Parts: sequence; C-alpha cells; structure tokens
Amino acid sequence: MNTKMLKSLVVTIAALALAGCARSGKSVAEDVGKAIGTPKSIQYSGSGSIYAIGQSYQPNDRYSKFTLKSYTRAIDYDKNASREEDVRTQFENPPRGGGQQPVFGERRGVSFVSGEAAWNPGPNGAVPATQAVDERQIQIAVTPHGFAKAAAAAADATIETKTEDGKQMTVVTFPFHGKYKISGFVDDQNLVAKVQTWLPHPVLGDMLVETTYADYKDYNGVKFPTKITQTQGGFPTLELNVSEVQPNAAATIEVPAGVAGAPPAAVKVESQKLADGVWFVGGGSHNSAVIEFKDHVFIVEGPLDDERASAVIAEAKKLVPNKPIKYALNTHHHFDHSGGLRAFVAEGVTILTQEMNKPYYEKTLAMPRTIKPDSLSKAPKEPKFQTIGDKYELTDGTRTVQLINIKNNTHNPGMVVAYLPKEKILIEPDLFTPLPPKAPMPAGVSPFTVELNNSLKAMKLDVRQIAPLHGRPVPMAEMQKMLAIPKKG
Ligand SMILES: [Zn+2]
Repeated sequence: MNTKMLKSLVVTIAALALAGCARSGKSVAEDVGKAIGTPKSIQYSGSGSIYAIGQSYQPNDRYSKFTLKSYTRAIDYDKNASREEDVRTQFENPPRGGGQQPVFGERRGVSFVSGEAAWNPGPNGAVPATQAVDERQIQIAVTPHGFAKAAAAAADATIETKTEDGKQMTVVTFPFHGKYKISGFVDDQNLVAKVQTWLPHPVLGDMLVETTYADYKDYNGVKFPTKITQTQGGFPTLELNVSEVQPNAAATIEVPAGVAGAPPAAVKVESQKLADGVWFVGGGSHNSAVIEFKDHVFIVEGPLDDERASAVIAEAKKLVPNKPIKYALNTHHHFDHSGGLRAFVAEGVTILTQEMNKPYYEKTLAMPRTIKPDSLSKAPKEPKFQTIGDKYELTDGTRTVQLINIKNNTHNPGMVVAYLPKEKILIEPDLFTPLPPKAPMPAGVSPFTVELNNSLKAMKLDVRQIAPLHGRPVPMAEMQKMLAIPKKG
C-alpha cells in the first residue's frame, strides 16, 4: 500500500465513521420508522378520560373531566385522513364546570379529516369543518407513525439532544404546513416518547400541545404505545389506555359530497331589539347583548374568538353609531365565553369581570401570539379592568344594569349575570339554555338551571324575560317548564 492509497483509506474510514454517528433529522426519523414500522394505516381503540378544554370550574383548575367509555381512531397515513370517535359519560358527580354537563347516558363525538377537507357528521349529513383542517392534520402528524413519516419527509428537520427524566432523547424538530412546528422526542430504542407542537388559541395564544407515548407493544411487527396522554395549555385533554391496535386495517375515509372545497364557516351576526336601547346579538352558537347608555355603549360578552368579538363590536357600532363602547362584561372565564376579550382590549374597552378572573386574564391576555396574530397583536394596548365582587351596578340615571355574581352554582363560581331591573331582562350564560322550538324535553333538568333559579329566588329578582348567551330569548315561563322536569338521580 503506497501513501496515496493509505490516505484514501483514512478518508474513507473517516467518512464512514462520520456517517455512523452524525445523525440528521431525516435519519433519526427513518430509524424510528425501522423501529416501529411504517404501516399505511392504523386503527387503535381504548378507554380512559377525556377533558373539555377551557371548561374548568375556576381559572387555573384542570379542565372538566369526563369518563371516556370508548375511543376509536382510524388513520390512513397515505391519504392523511383520520376518523376519531369518542363516547363519553358523566364523571363529575355532582356536575362541576362546563363542557355541556351533565351528560345524561352517554354522548358520542365523531370528527373526520382527509387532506384539505374536515367535517363532522350532523343529523342532516356531513357538516364541513374547514377551520379545523390544520389542527386535525397536526393531530395525525403527532402520532408516532405520523411523526416518523412527516419528519422523514421534511427537508429541514433539525436535531438536538435533551435529557428528559434522566433519559437522553434525540429531539427532531421540523416546520409543518408553513406556520406550525413539531418536535418529537426519540429515545435510545428509537421510540417516540413525546411530541410537542403549538396551536393558535384565542385565550392561550401559541398553545403547547404535548402528547406522550409509553408502554409500546408489538402488533404484528408494528409497535404502538398502550398509554397515550395529551395536554393542551398545560392540562390534560386526553388520557387513553389503548386496548386494541390493528396496523394496516382497511381504513376507508371518503370525503362526503359538499365538503371538499367548502370555505371556512363565515361569522354571522343577527341582532334583535329586546327593549329600547337593548339588543340581543345572535346569529351563531354564542350570543352577546348591546346596551345603550346616555353617552356610551355596554356590551355583554365577547365570545369564541377575535373574529366573533370583532363582528359583535362592529354590530354595536352599527346599532348605536356615535357613542363609544366603554364597557364589556365577561360573564365567566370559560374559553368559549372569553376568547374574544382581546378584541375589546384592542378597542380600548374596559373589561368587567368577577375579581377571581383578573389575575388569570392578566396572564393569558399577555401570552405570545406568533402563529395567528389578532386585533390586539396589531394594536397592542394594556388591558383595563373593573372587577366585580358580589354585585356591581352600571347606571347613568336613565338606565341601570346590575351585574350579579351567581356564586352558588357548580358550573363556575365566578359567573356574573346581567339584570335590567326596569326591563326585567336577565342575560345569563350556560346556567339555562332554552330548547329550540318544538325540541323534545331533555331526559333531566340541568342542576345549573336549578341553581340559577334558587339564586334568583333568594335575591327576589323579578325576571320576565331571559336573554341567554346560547339559544334564543324566551319568556321566564320557558325556564319554569324546564324546572318542572323530574330530577335525575
Ligand atoms: Zn361555561
């Protein structure tokens, strides 16, 4: 062997050594694929607990919990399609927090995604859920096999080493669908132990979604975890014990007619006059109210998200032009009722809320929003609060609105309702929701409605009309009809 040959051999050995140790995001993902298999599809099922995000009894509590009687998910990795079904029963006894408690018997939820189409089954066929496409695609990409596939396909996956619970993990991070990011924690067996991603949330901003996988088992050459936990914004949303796994099960998820290409649901606002200077603002799943004072406007509730609250603000400006919106009442901290608060802050409106919520909002309103900037990101302002203890009165001599904390209810102890003593109108969320016209009576009366009724009686409030934040305005008699349903044990 001459010197030239020796040099070439040294270079070759060095190159081989380098290839052996220096792993790339792509090679780690491929190693994961070798360890757990690369099925075209998978179906897994089990049971455990499921939680309604943002529906805790009070701020900073865990989300409201339900027993997950059964859970089945089928994923077609070739088509990026998924069908997820959960059957939940009441866990909290007595009911505590939101999430449409109590569940009488059991409640079934089904959701689908396939490529750029997402939908839910409805009584009259599939209902497009285009706004959920990104989240549902991410939920495929954070499964062990979904992660391995997406990370191997990503052109720019990076790796780093982190120590988690004393174990060394290789963390593979890659961008997903442009604005998202996925980080998978791979252990020394090339198993996916944890996947992190961040989703835009109206209340929590760039919200961490963390899924952990443990106790992998082998199913005909495909490895799958038997313990799955997901947290969103720091609290569990799913705890699943997997009992059955079928790799390469025939997953037929066909996009129904009318779903492909459906635009995201438009924000619809319809207002109706309840009394002079008092409007009920509906048109969607969550209502608001607009109340005119001598020199300003007061709005009850900025629900859901920035888009909904902005549409409510625009409607208020249309109903009462030339008067500034000075106050907005937030009835309680549940995410579906507080998701629009940032739009009010951007508008310079003072937020009225029960005092227990203020520290929570100071924290959440300031959380970063880089994935989906909103009104307040574009026009940053400090929030202004006026807190409510037991009771707070808004009055200017011509109009009076009483804001009352309904403490004694198991939905949310910080609940504040608005009562107009002259008009005898009560504006309330979630404690009583009228049935749609001609709907059959429910199997039982909601304990929240019983609690509201007890509070109204104790305060001797003369309520003639209820303007609920879900459903339609109804005379008080509708609530009495509901209260006449025999109580369920
Ligand atoms: Zn609620």
